Amino acid sequence: MVFERMANRGHERVLFVQNRAAGLRAIIAIHNTTLGPALGGVRRWHYASEDDALEDVLRLSEAMTYKAAAAHLPMGGGKSVILLDAARAEPRETAAKAMGRAVETLRGDYIAAEDVGVNEQYIDWIGEETQYVMGGEKKSRGGDPSPYTARGVVNGMRAAMRFLNLEPNFKGRTIAIQGMGHVGWNVARILLGEGARVKASDISPERLDQAKQQLGVEVINVDHLLGSECDILCPCALGGVINGNTISDIQAPIVCGAANNVLDDPFEDSSALMARGILYCPDFVVNAGGLIQLAGLWLRYTQAQLDQKITDIESTTLRILDRGRELGSNHAAAVDYARRVIDEGIPAGSQGGAVHAP
Ligand code: NAD
Repeated sequence: MVFERMANRGHERVLFVQNRAAGLRAIIAIHNTTLGPALGGVRRWHYASEDDALEDVLRLSEAMTYKAAAAHLPMGGGKSVILLDAARAEPRETAAKAMGRAVETLRGDYIAAEDVGVNEQYIDWIGEETQYVMGGEKKSRGGDPSPYTARGVVNGMRAAMRFLNLEPNFKGRTIAIQGMGHVGWNVARILLGEGARVKASDISPERLDQAKQQLGVEVINVDHLLGSECDILCPCALGGVINGNTISDIQAPIVCGAANNVLDDPFEDSSALMARGILYCPDFVVNAGGLIQLAGLWLRYTQAQLDQKITDIESTTLRILDRGRELGSNHAAAVDYARRVIDEGIPAGSQGGAVHAP
């Protein structure tokens, strides 16, 4: 059934890795390399079944293809998962190095990076065994991409305000952020600096208290965040929080956040949001800033080129929102846009501009 599932989503290659001595079981999925090598994070997770792990890596690697294409990067889409035996299994150097050796066998068709459960140290361990890795501090470049992701999310918010014929500034606007982690914290910092009022929730009371003391966010109960009165709802925690059960709670006219796969059923939930008059900015378009930073370093872009690409998230988002109005779904419009970039290609030597709207 693996071939059928690969064919359904259009995957090129899936590598299963098993190394008993190193305590590693992993799957590396390369979805599409039409535009270039597949850059995507390594996720360490305790899955209920091998089937769940395969589904996750197939879904995530496909999304990376669209994220890179919508950002006009000459990169493809890939992702890998490391299957943990227990939920909080300690990260181990031997497993990370074995993962590095597996990545090396792909000779650069897949470039590993950070994802859930993997930090800079883990990336550096992987980097002991392969040159095809980004986001470490010693053995590879990049470090924490979240400040760049946050900048892109804020640019997505500006596009949403423009689309609604609002002044694209934050003075006096209220933004509700779910999750004060790496990205949420940086989004709050930028918005507060631009005069916004920020309400925030986090399941970690310590993190929330830090955000209150150090940034000056207003604290809001986790159960009340989605339904709180605000101008923009910014999910920066886990995926799937917007679904058939929660869409009716949302009070914000705009949803724009970093969380990957924030819609449980992207095509259906995106249409349901539109039907309720809520403007949804597609996750993989607005949260591409971190990928742009890492891919850009890999591609040896200058800082000015990288900054421009993160700025371009605003114009790309606006085009997609326009197209979404025609299609009745902003998620469908974003996938359509990304596929168009893949079909048309990115001109050699160019850092890419927005493709022509149909
Ligand atoms: P993180 O782990 O640093 O932060 C997530 C925060 O959300 C944590 O503080 C956690 O306690 C909190 N949280 C979890 N469940 C919550 C809930 N129900 N309500 C409120 N808070 C909750 O992760 P991050 O790096 O900030 O990433 C956030 C999201 O953005 C993830 O979905 C990630 O996949 C996505 N993303 C991150 C980047 C990046 O550069 N880090 C890039 C693209 C997408």
